[in-house]
Amino acid sequence: MALLDPQKIWMSKQLPTLPSVAIKLLDLARNPETELRDVVDLIRTDPATSAKILKAANSSYFAFRSEVTTIDRAVPLLGTTVVTSMALSFSLVDAAMTSGPMVQHYTDYWRQSVVQAVAAEFLANQTACGPGCDFFLAGLLMDLGRLAMLKSVPREYLPVLTASKAETEPLHEVERRMLGIDHVEIGQKLMEQWKLPAPIIKAAGTSHSALTELFELPAEGEGLLCRVLAVASAAGEYFCAPAKGTAFDRLQKLLSAYFQFSPEDIDSYLNSTRQRIDAAGELFAVNTDEIGDASELTALANEQLAQLAMQQHIETTQAQARQQTAENEKRELELRNRQLQIQAIKDPLTSLYNRQFFDESLEKEICRAVRCAEPVGVIFSDIDKFKNLNDTYGHPFGDQVLQQVARVFADVLRQADVLARYGGEEFVVIVNQPTEKGIEKVAERLRSRVEAEEIRFGETPVRVTVSVGAAVAIPRRNETDLAKRLLTEADEAMYEAKQNGRNQIRIRSLMSEDDRRMTHLVSQRRLSRWLVSRQLLDIPSISQALLQYESRRVRIGEIAQAKGFLTANQVQAILADHTQDGERFGSIAIRKGFLTEDDVAQLLAYQQEDPVQLGMVLVRLGLMTQQKVIECLQEYVAEAQPSHKRMVTA
Ligand code: GH3
Ligand code: MG
Ligand code: MG
Repeated sequence: MALLDPQKIWMSKQLPTLPSVAIKLLDLARNPETELRDVVDLIRTDPATSAKILKAANSSYFAFRSEVTTIDRAVPLLGTTVVTSMALSFSLVDAAMTSGPMVQHYTDYWRQSVVQAVAAEFLANQTACGPGCDFFLAGLLMDLGRLAMLKSVPREYLPVLTASKAETEPLHEVERRMLGIDHVEIGQKLMEQWKLPAPIIKAAGTSHSALTELFELPAEGEGLLCRVLAVASAAGEYFCAPAKGTAFDRLQKLLSAYFQFSPEDIDSYLNSTRQRIDAAGELFAVNTDEIGDASELTALANEQLAQLAMQQHIETTQAQARQQTAENEKRELELRNRQLQIQAIKDPLTSLYNRQFFDESLEKEICRAVRCAEPVGVIFSDIDKFKNLNDTYGHPFGDQVLQQVARVFADVLRQADVLARYGGEEFVVIVNQPTEKGIEKVAERLRSRVEAEEIRFGETPVRVTVSVGAAVAIPRRNETDLAKRLLTEADEAMYEAKQNGRNQIRIRSLMSEDDRRMTHLVSQRRLSRWLVSRQLLDIPSISQALLQYESRRVRIGEIAQAKGFLTANQVQAILADHTQDGERFGSIAIRKGFLTEDDVAQLLAYQQEDPVQLGMVLVRLGLMTQQKVIECLQEYVAEAQPSHKRMVTA
């Protein structure tokens, strides 16, 4: 809905105006010199007002003991504020209120204003806040904005009023939502135009504020009027508006916070206010029959509150359910993502890694091996005459064989090896820390275990064998296509095995004589080998320890310096050469005459197996005592001295 242009209100000729007698009364009220006499004289000039005042003075609302017959008596009895309220009320009550299509809404407004006035006055009297009649006037006027809107923009305002009757949302909120402005704001502005006392204007403004703001109001001065009007406004809603539950809740909270009212105090306050409303209604010529009696009101309010609580409970439960659903969806999505990730690297038939993952892993492995001059080994295997198997026993059986061979392979290999299905009936392996001999052993074990595996088609034993090729190499520093070379060599080796009659292995080493000699030297100088050769540990024990050992890669230059093999300057000189071509650190050091081949082997052995780290694993696994490990390490390190020192000590 289009929001309302406030100018339409302010330009309206229908906007309520003050009768001249009221203007003059307000002027008198502002003037401290004013005497009661002046007020009496002024009232006398206006017969209609005089009549109303006299009627009021004799009404049950004030309940004076004797009849009041003159304005001279009535004005001092009622007080100037009440007199002013009365005079004002005549301008607020006009023909529109007793006839026409908006009559019900005028009546609603006026009734609620009167109720607010009564509620404010009674509360002020009860809590000794100050002269009740001032509060009465403030209560009566605080919803002036409603009257202004009824008069100036009835067409736009009607749907708002209808909506607010149907909903349990406070009127000013419906106004804001539908028109972009509310009666609080309009009322304040009109009161300013009328030059009403500033505290009344201020209190009218805060009367509908949020509870948190209202609790902040000071308990004296203008704050007090604001507090009382906030209560009166809630009381107006409680008695006259549809949202009785929320109004009741607000009343309870405000009254207990402001005046420490107990629930009984609150009941009694509402009961007494209810009783006074009828008399005030008579005084201001408004029908109050529609307002139910106190017990009906409480019942209605409580029912609404229960409904609200229920609704809140349902909303919370629904919110929880929504959150639960969202969480479930998230978990499912995560699970699905994980499955997708696994699918991306795994072959669905055998659950082995797929070709893509294998290729990536091989590249990584080569990068790592380049850094520490370690060999990389690849095994390529292919099931023999697999096509025949498929043709004889059917494709599903072929699948079964693939799965079984995959299991055998996985069983033979170590955790650190990477096993993948490369395609059809081809399996490939990246062998962890291979040596020429080591990779040959692995290849042979794969072949023999598959040959020995019992594979049956129903009752019929089926012979399944594989041909295996392997290739091992130490990458050169600047080598870029080693992965391809290794795979091609392994594939060719496998093909050779096929040519030669199948069910056999072929190993190709791409290592140079120097490489080979160096790897051999390194393996001999490793702590693990040293311990075995000294019969300090057996092979199963050291293998167990090596599985637990995680090498923290340290640069060879750093080790060389730390162990006294090279000076910092020598390391610098080697590294300077390093950047120029693919030559290895060790070979540069040898070429420059800084180190012997033995020294380099020792350094590489240190790099591959850090003695302290491995020693800690031995202690942790209970394979050696700490004392024994320390003794061993001392001996090992003494033997592993760089050649120039050894010559000195010799
Ligand atoms: P060779 O000893 O020379 O390796 O003979 P072969 O029959 O194993 O070799 P070839 O490459 O000619 O045949 C491989 C067969 O593997 C062909 C194909 O039908 C079969 N194959 C490939 N992938 C699968 C699969 O996922 N499941 C099954 N059951 N068979 C497959
Ligand atoms: Mg094949
Ligand atoms: Mg084959």
